[in-house]
Amino acid sequence: GFHAEKERAALYEINREAAAYFYRAFAKGSNPGLEYMAKRGLDAATLRKFGIGYADAEWDSLYQYFLSKGADPKTLLELGLISNSKDRYYDKYRNRVIFPIINTRGKIIGFGGRILGDGTPKYLNSPESTIFLKKNNLYGLNLTRQDINKENYVILVEGYMDVISLYQHGIRNVSASLGTALTENQAAMLKRYTDNVILSYDADAAGQAAALRGLDILHKSGCKVKVLHVTDGKDPDDFIKKNGKDEFLKLVHDAMSFADYKIHILKQRLDMNTTEGSVEFLQETAKILRELSPVEADIYIKKIARETKISEGAIRLEINGNNNSDH
Ligand code: ATP
Ligand code: MN
Ligand code: MN
Ligand code: MN
Repeated sequence: GFHAEKERAALYEINREAAAYFYRAFAKGSNPGLEYMAKRGLDAATLRKFGIGYADAEWDSLYQYFLSKGADPKTLLELGLISNSKDRYYDKYRNRVIFPIINTRGKIIGFGGRILGDGTPKYLNSPESTIFLKKNNLYGLNLTRQDINKENYVILVEGYMDVISLYQHGIRNVSASLGTALTENQAAMLKRYTDNVILSYDADAAGQAAALRGLDILHKSGCKVKVLHVTDGKDPDDFIKKNGKDEFLKLVHDAMSFADYKIHILKQRLDMNTTEGSVEFLQETAKILRELSPVEADIYIKKIARETKISEGAIRLEINGNNNSDH
């Protein structure tokens, strides 16, 4: 209702003021935040575009700033800008680079804060609030949705740094899932701009597991999804810094389709030299191929028969046989 809407407007306003505060600290002369981001290869234009800020090392400078403006500490607490211990309030983000998270209506819904250098936690993110539901938002989409629409595909990455780095290198059809598992709502958001999604998660085990889960969610949502592997470095930011835009676009070109990727994972997991391994491979492959159109399935059946000792007939029988037993 009206009351709730007014409260939300007040929260957006506080976030906007906090973002402006962090931004001013980042933009003025030299400061550790700017130094850190420059060291990571980001230029002033890119940093400005993303509204990057700096939270200074003081205990409560942001809190004092808001106090002087008459803000209610309860609101600041709710937004995760301050914490309290006993009767004292202190700033949540201290000596961190700040990434404002902005929705497609241009409202600042939350923040990510990265520590300068090593230390834990590496990132501090805003808590969920009435204006910040992680499952309903994607980082960077406010800036990149036109490019996603124009290119007719999106490169989905894990981190803030990946989005900003790809963007600076001229790959602007990019977004990130805010460090959580991809959700159906996020898939639906992307579908407003494109059906084609390239998952480009980190090269580590966690990233690959997240890619597998994201693959299923996107596929179920009706997206055509592929998986990109960075062949050098730990994530897209790392890769593009070392190898440049054209090499990254080659990875995009070589990205594995839904079925290719799932079959690739099966081959890694199963020992095809044993009967058990082959049988499970056949069963699992049949499940994957049943998800495809008949034409696509046919191409894969031939390919798998070529690459394994399993015959086309056996694969077809497995696909159709199990289909019939469902009915
Ligand atoms: P950097 O390049 O600065 O190390 P990154 O994006 O590569 O950053 P990752 O460790 O790969 O960092 O994490 C990917 C994303 O997951 C981050 O951008 C952030 O959104 C989220 N994340 C990472 N670590 C944490 C944490 N400790 N708490 C909350 N979110 C986190
Ligand atoms: Mn990671
Ligand atoms: Mn990184
Ligand atoms: Mn990473």
